[in-house]
Amino acid sequence: MNSRRRDHLGTDRSEPLPVLIIGNGPSGICLSYLLSGYTPYVRPDAVHPHPLLQRKLAEAPGVSLLDQDLDYLSEGLEGRCQSPVALLFDALLRPDTDFGGNMESVLTWKHQKERAIPHMVLGRNLPGGAWHSIEGSMVTLSQGQWMGLPDLQVKEWIRRKRRGLRNSRATAGDIAHYYRDYVTKKDLGRNFVSGAVVTAVEWGTPESGASGGREPSPLFQVSGFVTTEDQSRRPFSLCARNVVLATGTSDSPARLGVPGEALPFVHYELAALEAAVRAGAVTPASDPVLIVGAGLSAADAVLYARHCNIPVIHTFRRPVDDPGLVFNQLPKMLYPEYHKVHQMMREQSILSPSPYEGYLSLPEHRLLLFKADRQAVFQDRDGLQKVFGVALVLVLIGSHPDLSFLPGAGADLAVDPDQPLSAKRNPIDVDPFTYQSTRQEGLYAMGPLAGDNFVRFVQGGALAVASSLLRKEARKPP
Ligand SMILES: Cc1cc2nc3c(=O)[nH]c(=O)nc-3n(C[C@H](O)[C@H](O)[C@H](O)COP(=O)(O)OP(=O)(O)OC[C@H]3O[C@@H](n4cnc5c(N)ncnc54)[C@H](O)[C@@H]3O)c2cc1C
Repeated sequence: MNSRRRDHLGTDRSEPLPVLIIGNGPSGICLSYLLSGYTPYVRPDAVHPHPLLQRKLAEAPGVSLLDQDLDYLSEGLEGRCQSPVALLFDALLRPDTDFGGNMESVLTWKHQKERAIPHMVLGRNLPGGAWHSIEGSMVTLSQGQWMGLPDLQVKEWIRRKRRGLRNSRATAGDIAHYYRDYVTKKDLGRNFVSGAVVTAVEWGTPESGASGGREPSPLFQVSGFVTTEDQSRRPFSLCARNVVLATGTSDSPARLGVPGEALPFVHYELAALEAAVRAGAVTPASDPVLIVGAGLSAADAVLYARHCNIPVIHTFRRPVDDPGLVFNQLPKMLYPEYHKVHQMMREQSILSPSPYEGYLSLPEHRLLLFKADRQAVFQDRDGLQKVFGVALVLVLIGSHPDLSFLPGAGADLAVDPDQPLSAKRNPIDVDPFTYQSTRQEGLYAMGPLAGDNFVRFVQGGALAVASSLLRKEARKPP
């Protein structure tokens, strides 16, 4: 642990922190950038290709985007995301990207230190969040330029590293490296504490007497531990006026809920297969690896196993041609590797065996149980049971947000509090223009937790949160 980290988490702080961000992925980094005084303005000479947006932008020349009415500016914008502010910020950063264009951003950035709001970003891993857990050689689904954060183009960064994009896409390893570098290049490091895990956030008693007639501010107590260099855990406890949940949704893998799932050969991360291959525990001569799931993570695992000549059984519950399968929604030209996996799923199915040696797909099969002697028992669509011996199992069927550090695991904060929290179906209910929880003043959520699932779109959440926090700061008495 470095001394900076010690100072950061020292408990002798007399004043509460204005803002504490939990999670150091693209969401937390982008918000830290905006809270550090980096302020977006529309370039005076820029003309946005969206005529209505251009007209609105021209109404407030020289006014920072953070001080403008985001509701008004984003009205009428459409795109691949539900959030109006995410669409707005994306349209300003990448004006014509959805039309295949490469127009420069209409924004220019000024570093105005007087606008900075003191804050701290806590994260389990290094800055970059989920990108440090994704297999480094995996190629991003999104175009490389959509993975970038404000004012540092991925393309430019990659060129300087003397590397290249693959078919306009980047590797997860490069993207993780880019996010770490972004924090350094933008001098945000002093606000980041890596290796810090939040285990509890509590609130309740608003500060009395200190509000000068305004609504009393809530006060949050945030505690957890930081892992030190000698791998010991040191507890911390911090007080904050505002807490931003930017914890993503990758920390709690979905389970099958079948007997035997806790057996030691059942895993939930591709890293487990990589480790087994490295250790020689799984080889081309072993029993097959069982990969469960029909999403892109499962496809990445199939590709990795094939690359290492490891035999694979690939099982999933849906039919291969189900329109809901992600493979049926991806353009073949742009994603040849995923198209290849889809082709194998179809052509090398147990229902019609053919050419891909070492790969067998089991569409419309349900896993019933795992046995201690490494047997997996399935049921097919006709109710017939089948048993296969396997070397290792990888269950890659999605993940859930882990908000166990909140009272009631955050269930009350969801759009429908009676249903499980889910990035796609039931995110945290936030005001669309501030990203503040509709249930708890001072508590914000962004990124997939608030329903914004792509890096390109999590940045609008950061803009909304920063704008809201700046307004709160401006209301504070001198
Ligand atoms: C395999 C895979 C491929 C993907 N491909 C793409 C793609 O091609 N394009 C794209 O745009 N998006 C892609 N995504 C989605 C993308 O990863 C997310 O949209 C993005 O990372 C969300 O950023 P975030 O900062 O909100 O959360 P995250 O990146 O998930 O970061 C949150 C961080 O907070 C940490 N954290 C959680 N709880 C705590 C706690 N209690 N205390 C401290 N830290 C905590 C987490 O460990 C994590 O490191 C992919 C995701 C996965 C899993």
